[in-house]
Amino acid sequence: MEEKVKIFMDKVIAKNQGEGEFIQAVQEVAESLIPFIEENPKYKQAKILDRLVEPERVIMFRVPWMDENNEVQVNRGFRVEFNSAIGPYKGGLRFHPSVTLSGLKFLGFEQILKNSLTTLPMGGGKGGSDFNPKGKSDNEIMRFCQSFMSELFRHIGPNTDVPAGDIGVGGREIGFMFGQYKRLRNEFTGVLTGKGREWGGSILRPEATGFGVVYYAAEMLKLQGDDLKGKLVSISGFGNVAWGAALKATELGAKVVTISGPDGYIYDADGIAGEKIEYMLDLRASNNDVVKPYAEEFGAEFHEGKRPWEVAVDVALPCAIQNELNGEDAKKLVDNNVTCIVEGANMPCTPEAIALFHDNKIMFSPGKASNAGGVAVSGLEMSQNSLRFSWKAEEVDEKLKQIMCDIHAACAKYGKREDGYVDYVKGANIAGFVKVADAMLAQGLV
Ligand code: GLU
Repeated sequence: MEEKVKIFMDKVIAKNQGEGEFIQAVQEVAESLIPFIEENPKYKQAKILDRLVEPERVIMFRVPWMDENNEVQVNRGFRVEFNSAIGPYKGGLRFHPSVTLSGLKFLGFEQILKNSLTTLPMGGGKGGSDFNPKGKSDNEIMRFCQSFMSELFRHIGPNTDVPAGDIGVGGREIGFMFGQYKRLRNEFTGVLTGKGREWGGSILRPEATGFGVVYYAAEMLKLQGDDLKGKLVSISGFGNVAWGAALKATELGAKVVTISGPDGYIYDADGIAGEKIEYMLDLRASNNDVVKPYAEEFGAEFHEGKRPWEVAVDVALPCAIQNELNGEDAKKLVDNNVTCIVEGANMPCTPEAIALFHDNKIMFSPGKASNAGGVAVSGLEMSQNSLRFSWKAEEVDEKLKQIMCDIHAACAKYGKREDGYVDYVKGANIAGFVKVADAMLAQGLV
């Protein structure tokens, strides 16, 4: 089997030279799927996996804009329309200086399986720009978003491709982009999700990813006869996902002791709860990309340039960015007797870290399963837009919770080993794949 994976990966590597993150994401999926495909020859004959790793379309464009000093700035914009077998392309837009085509291909590829896992009719896509929002004024953000949408608008639509937020893209950016789309097309449609509540957004969309991560963690623990009450939790990041996860984990009786930013991490032994969680929103709105001010505000410890994985906790929720938790970090967590690692970001754990968790039979969930709550509520936002109706918070929350439970059950079904240990990576990859693969088979060679 290893030989078959190697032959497949050699082809992928040759075709996608230098695209390390994309290759990493495909490798993980290929290791789970190739044995499954060997047992199901219909997928093999139709070369579904070869087709799945090739985006249906990639759009790359210039984004010129004028900064506050009247100087011309030029960024690069992308949209990777990866797979539309089960619905319109769907996935976020990331504005971050590290954005490259490789990064967006990895994210778009993960999104195919993630969106399939939600059980909602959404294909996979991702986009963004190497624009750095750090230190930019509101006006600069608006001018950039308008320029970005001036090209993107011709490629998207409520039945074609429905972008949303991701790192660096929140309610403000979605507002500016929606305004420009509406102006150019002269139509008010659900072309973006994560909109403001007053103009078509779903209630609970901002909280959804973080809430979903914690609902999923609760399901993993429940399967072992455990729950979140009294558990010590470390979270990385301080954005949307980290905020929602901190809120829900605290509500379910856990104690969150860390958050982090590019500058280091905060350790708050008293627990990050109440107004301290709300303060994360102020940190984000400042556009400075740092967490240190939390330490000054609340008298907590700040560990400059370090990651939170050295803190002894029961549950770790990496909610920042890809490859933020490596083999060494994983070893520290394992040595400190962590019981459960649940990814809130996309691919935050490196392959070495995941292997260590698996070798030690520690519960580990990949982001494509555990962070699917965000895009799931985006799917619910699309439904509400189509209905021209909005559901109440309890209705959305109930649906979100049910979706996360269903994703967990599907992953546990396909990932359960003979000794009872659940390999959630394998479970998520196979459970996500089947629906997309069957749709591709039914739709012929397109
Ligand atoms: N960016 C989020 C993700 O990684 C949400 C995408 C969406 O809502 O379309 O899944």
